[in-house]
Amino acid sequence: MMIATLLFPKWCIEPDASGEQVCARTDRAVGLSVDGRIAYVGPAADAPEARHRVDLRGFTLMPGLINAHTHAAMTLMRGVADDTPLDVWLKNHIWPREGKHLSDPFVYEGTLLAAWEMLRGGTTCCNDMYLFPDAAARALRRAGMRAMIAMPVFDFPTPYAADADGYLSAGLAARDAHADTRTLRFALAAHAPYTVSDSSFAKIKMFADELNLPIHTHLQETAKEVAESVAQYGVSPTQRLADLDITRPDFVAIHAVHCDKLDIATLVAHHSHVVHCPTSNMKLASGVAPIAEMWAAGLNVALGTDGAASNNRLDMWQEMRMAALLAKVSTGDAAALPAPQVLHMATLGGARALGWADEIGSIEVGKSADLIAVDMRQLEHAPIFDPLSHLVYVTDRNCVQHVWVQGEQVVRDGVPTKLDATELRSYAAAWQDTLK
Ligand SMILES: [Zn+2]
Repeated sequence: MMIATLLFPKWCIEPDASGEQVCARTDRAVGLSVDGRIAYVGPAADAPEARHRVDLRGFTLMPGLINAHTHAAMTLMRGVADDTPLDVWLKNHIWPREGKHLSDPFVYEGTLLAAWEMLRGGTTCCNDMYLFPDAAARALRRAGMRAMIAMPVFDFPTPYAADADGYLSAGLAARDAHADTRTLRFALAAHAPYTVSDSSFAKIKMFADELNLPIHTHLQETAKEVAESVAQYGVSPTQRLADLDITRPDFVAIHAVHCDKLDIATLVAHHSHVVHCPTSNMKLASGVAPIAEMWAAGLNVALGTDGAASNNRLDMWQEMRMAALLAKVSTGDAAALPAPQVLHMATLGGARALGWADEIGSIEVGKSADLIAVDMRQLEHAPIFDPLSHLVYVTDRNCVQHVWVQGEQVVRDGVPTKLDATELRSYAAAWQDTLK
């Protein structure tokens, strides 16, 4: 493969010998091919010839962060109703505004705003779940970001669709419209077990089987959700979904806060995945997901921000730090979720959850060049005994200077190359007037 660009970072974050952890290597070079793949990873001294050589002295080069759960367009509702419990927040603040204002332009413009924030913060791929997925797909494609886009399903009407059949046909049409885009993939997303009936889950499963699509859902986010499921169905939502044959190797459980040992064992046995959203869970007082226990049981865990309405940042550096700290305080064990594990969750763990680990999640020859360069030269980083520890406990999103998706530089010197700040500011101002 012809090398177009060679990057020479101070530290390169690569899989260790086991492939299950990351490590920081020095004196490395990473080569990008003309078609946007990683064509060389090895000693800088042995690097082949290349058209461009980029000196990243003082920088860490790492795989792009994967935000495994967000509602990108909800960035337009950032801070609209803070310090409110989940059910009141949804029913009194979010759903009424969505019912009145949700539209293709809302999602397109809100998703562009989210893409700006995510790319600038080093997130190269998001798993987006929202209404009007065609608008989200167009926005993320324009921003140059990789994404898995949910085809959402509810049993109740919204401005987007009337019933489960309507959601499914609109979602599948959006998928067809973007079938030629290498950086976009689609998943079926049942919003939650409490908003989707057994018969709708059966339809989702039928399409998942037929079209080989993953199934994602919010799962056991609150204790109330579990209690209501036990009252209505006699079992937890996880057991109900297992009975419906929904939990399987491409099933992604978002939140999974209130999971007992049986729920965890079920998800492990079915090789399913969990997306941990620590900031959103704390902000909505949902609880603490038993992530250290899940990790020890062998469950693949990814990290997500959730939407900006419940976070209020799409900032994976915050999620990494929160995940590490929350695991320690909730288990009483300072050794729980050490930095290399957290970095794994935010990169390869996310790629595995999305079924995309053949392309992204680690710096390895043959994978897509989805990379970020993090400036570690500021005095706030000094001294650097262990760059992995710093990436979780010290670094923030403003340290991200350069971002590549599929070899294309989409952030240069901290500025997204394919988006226009003035345009995004005008969208945000107009929606602020409308939504207040
Ligand atoms: Zn969510």
